[in-house]
Amino acid sequence: AIDFKWIRENKDAVAANIKKRNSNANLELVLQLYNQMLNLQKEVERLRAERNAVANKMKGKLESFERQKLIEEGKNLKEGILKLEEDLLKLTDELQQEAQCIPNMTHPDVPIGGEDSSTIRKMVGIPREFNFPAKDHLQLGKDLDLFDFDAASEVSGSKFYYLKNEAVMLEMGLINWTLLEVMKRGFTPLTTPEIVRSSVVEKCGFQPRGTNTQVYSIEGSDQCLIGTAEIPVGGIHMDSILSASVLPLKYVAVSHCFRTEAGAAGTATRGLYRVHQFSKLEMFILCQPEESDFYHEELIKIEEDLFSSLGLHYKTLDMASGDLGAPAYRKFDIEAWMPGLARFGEISSASNCTDYQSRRLGIRYRSSEPASTNPKKGKGNLSPPQFVHTLNATACAVPRMIVCLLENNQQEDGSVVIPEQLRPFVGGLELIQPKS
Ligand code: AMP
Repeated sequence: AIDFKWIRENKDAVAANIKKRNSNANLELVLQLYNQMLNLQKEVERLRAERNAVANKMKGKLESFERQKLIEEGKNLKEGILKLEEDLLKLTDELQQEAQCIPNMTHPDVPIGGEDSSTIRKMVGIPREFNFPAKDHLQLGKDLDLFDFDAASEVSGSKFYYLKNEAVMLEMGLINWTLLEVMKRGFTPLTTPEIVRSSVVEKCGFQPRGTNTQVYSIEGSDQCLIGTAEIPVGGIHMDSILSASVLPLKYVAVSHCFRTEAGAAGTATRGLYRVHQFSKLEMFILCQPEESDFYHEELIKIEEDLFSSLGLHYKTLDMASGDLGAPAYRKFDIEAWMPGLARFGEISSASNCTDYQSRRLGIRYRSSEPASTNPKKGKGNLSPPQFVHTLNATACAVPRMIVCLLENNQQEDGSVVIPEQLRPFVGGLELIQPKS
């Protein structure tokens, strides 16, 4: 449940936050719709009370003309209530739609501004210098017979691909290695449904409809393909009250992700960098509010450990307010050096969404400590449930990882060295070599 009362009471701070985040949310309209909804609710309640009074009167002894009059009154009231209830439903829907655009509040340390205002938290390694003409992953893939974009284009459309030979082993190896690394750190592994209800997509803060949506929706149904496992994992504990003793809940989910990439024309669209379907491992944490900053740091540390052990050159960014998307309170992206692009490219993203998703998904927890130790208070001494905080972070988005590994680990003879960590997960393979 979105806390409209809080939004109304903190109108100035919410308006300043919307501006800071470059969001097009219409706060005035939201508050106006909220007021209308409260008034309508009051009116419905008033009519219901009147209808009850009429019903009570009918219990007494009455002349028949009086009874007839009351029956008439009751009927009119019933019709009035039904009409208002319908209006209320429509209004609530409109309010929810508008409120969906209001972004989460922003962590005080987040740099303010657009994309260029993001700050570097950490830089690891240096760009590899090549003493031979380096190839991009498309050329390497061609020479080593690792992909087929042409057939995929015929079969599915542009931005689809077949992986072949060692590239398939790399995908499987990356998934398995990452899964075990993250499980070692106490995360529960999951595979997830890859088709979900549009309502769950919306509750996670994504737009399932509209012209610029990243989400593929399934015609004739209220379902969508997932853009990230964050959605089905976020939904696992939807509409529940968890015991504080089970928190934090830490998941690592393996799934395919589907994205329309609407509006992405022209931005590194070649090869595997930006595709419509890819495999990804996503970490997801549900925790108590006061712990979410701590777990955000833990997530970014795991990502950095993983990318360091694969030998990547990368930088970690504290993303600027205008680049956070609606659900995140704070976001750290990691960008790795991609020789084919001759620049850094995003490989992962870790967000603290505080209670933005849990409010919409209805995920609360109750402290195991009673609020009051006074036994006279009986049942009432249970503390009220609070919303958990949710966090999500990429452990491995496979295609961009393949881009990094191929381009950074290529050798003059055209072969590609597999990082040592991955070798046991690709059948001991050390080198990808041109096929004879
Ligand atoms: P996001 O959920 O948008 O933060 O994306 C998580 C990660 O998935 C990004 O950091 C990229 O590594 C990867 N990714 C996102 N979109 C695509 C895409 N269209 N094609 C390939 N990888 C992607």
